[in-house]
Amino acid sequence: MKKFAIAIHGGAESVKPGELDKEKEKKYREGLAEALKAGYEVLEKGGSAIDAVEAAVNCMEDNPLFNAGRGGSLTQRGETEFDAALMDGKTLRVGAVGAVRYVRNPISLAKLILQKCDHCLLVSTGAEEFALRHKLELQDPEYFVTPEKDKAWREKQLEGLAKKHKMAGSMSDTVGAVALDQNGNLAAATSTGGLTDQMKGRVGDSPIIGGGTFANNEVCAVSCTGEGEVIMKGVLAHELYAMMKYAGDSVQSAADKAVKLHDDKLQGDKGLIAMDSEGKIAFGFNTGFMKRGYWEAEGEPFVALWEDEKERPAATRKQKEKAK
Ligand code: ASP
Repeated sequence: MKKFAIAIHGGAESVKPGELDKEKEKKYREGLAEALKAGYEVLEKGGSAIDAVEAAVNCMEDNPLFNAGRGGSLTQRGETEFDAALMDGKTLRVGAVGAVRYVRNPISLAKLILQKCDHCLLVSTGAEEFALRHKLELQDPEYFVTPEKDKAWREKQLEGLAKKHKMAGSMSDTVGAVALDQNGNLAAATSTGGLTDQMKGRVGDSPIIGGGTFANNEVCAVSCTGEGEVIMKGVLAHELYAMMKYAGDSVQSAADKAVKLHDDKLQGDKGLIAMDSEGKIAFGFNTGFMKRGYWEAEGEPFVALWEDEKERPAATRKQKEKAK
């Protein structure tokens, strides 16, 4: 079998071990394992990297635990709004969406734009009309709002006006995936509900090509998470690519350097996953916690949450069923 691999993230956050309850930790691990499996199965059957990253991200968009699709963070107005991007490393084609509200799977809309639109990035009602025209599944706004995110929003309102003009809270479970398929093609995908209490109409780094998402077969595929304003100003995904291409860094060395770049001027949460053209995987984050995982051809799926945690085998649903 030819080489292939997928890596995913479910967001980087500044959380300490005692602050996350065990049940939630377990659910995160299960959610990551399911998403890995969805992407891996596409690759195993010889499917494209684009379809694999879409499948993995769809899985996390449908899981209310993650901040993408159902379970997205709420804006200051108490509404969900989504950004997403998908990039094809073979053709350098891109599809991206900003501030969409009714599309069940924003990453699938991004893929549709990549495949069927002359433009790269559509926002708001224009993007939604494109989704409607192509019969993508839409949902009522209520579908996306989970009790947990509603509670987080209410608490934010109670914190009052004093902090209103500071950066919105960065609770984040943005999701992303990078993959190498059996034909040697790379792809990257990122999907997010943005930051809790962000302004209506705010668009983060995820759909900004070179900011939160980038892929080029020659070098690497990258998906970022963290504070969008910091990531897009630092052009994080493209910087990682540039370190590999022009300075000859390995993917791990570039990932390590990328999260530290401009630390003096651009402070904030940063996290990323990257894969090189050989399928080598790197994780980088400055938060102490990033939900992440990978699965290489004929290997086992691995997931991890904490910084000092070695990625460990994830029991996928299929494996658990077999074990019963
Ligand atoms: N990067 C996302 C944004 O700023 C959120 C996150 O990953 O935490 O919209």
